[in-house]
Amino acid sequence: MKIEKAEVGVIGTNFYVVTDEKTGLSFAVDTGADFTELEPLLKNKNIKYILLTHGHYDHILGTAAAKRSTGAQIVIGGKDAQCLFNETLSRAGLHFPGVQQPVRADIQVKDGDEITVGSIKIKVMETPGHTKGSVCYILPDEGVIFSGDTLFYRSIGRTDFPGSSYSDMENSLFKLRKLDGDYKVYPGHGMPTTLDFERKYNPYL
Ligand SMILES: [Zn+2]
Repeated sequence: MKIEKAEVGVIGTNFYVVTDEKTGLSFAVDTGADFTELEPLLKNKNIKYILLTHGHYDHILGTAAAKRSTGAQIVIGGKDAQCLFNETLSRAGLHFPGVQQPVRADIQVKDGDEITVGSIKIKVMETPGHTKGSVCYILPDEGVIFSGDTLFYRSIGRTDFPGSSYSDMENSLFKLRKLDGDYKVYPGHGMPTTLDFERKYNPYL
């Protein structure tokens, strides 16, 4: 499995493309920029899914264009699905009114759902707190978590937005903390980390 990363958009959101080298199939995680920024990583890839960690504009603004270019299925936590066509809910309207191209989710996921891309199995963990529909995508066999804006290197996502909840965030962090074993963690912003490192040094986890 190969993970490629770019920091895209005005506030530097991580955009990942993961490829199963056995089958040549790929998926993307978050698309928070216009297509010109995403294109280099999407080029010549067979992208099956665009997995969105939540519905904030800095994670979804490129989704419509990426869908047009790749034909991939758009996947998002059910409780954030409306963000994809509502710039108030995505907060795009606040920062870039009129810019968001509305698009619909193909698949609305919930806790425990599984998605398969080639030989890669992806499990959905609902982790509300930053938004109601925030999810982490967990690759149990590869020991990888895409944590969106729930868990960062030595920090966590903000819980002061409309729809945020600190007590939900605490429960979500507890779920992550008590996962068995160590994982490599790829967050929505900033550098990658590991679950063991965060268990030790993250004051919130
Ligand atoms: Zn966010």
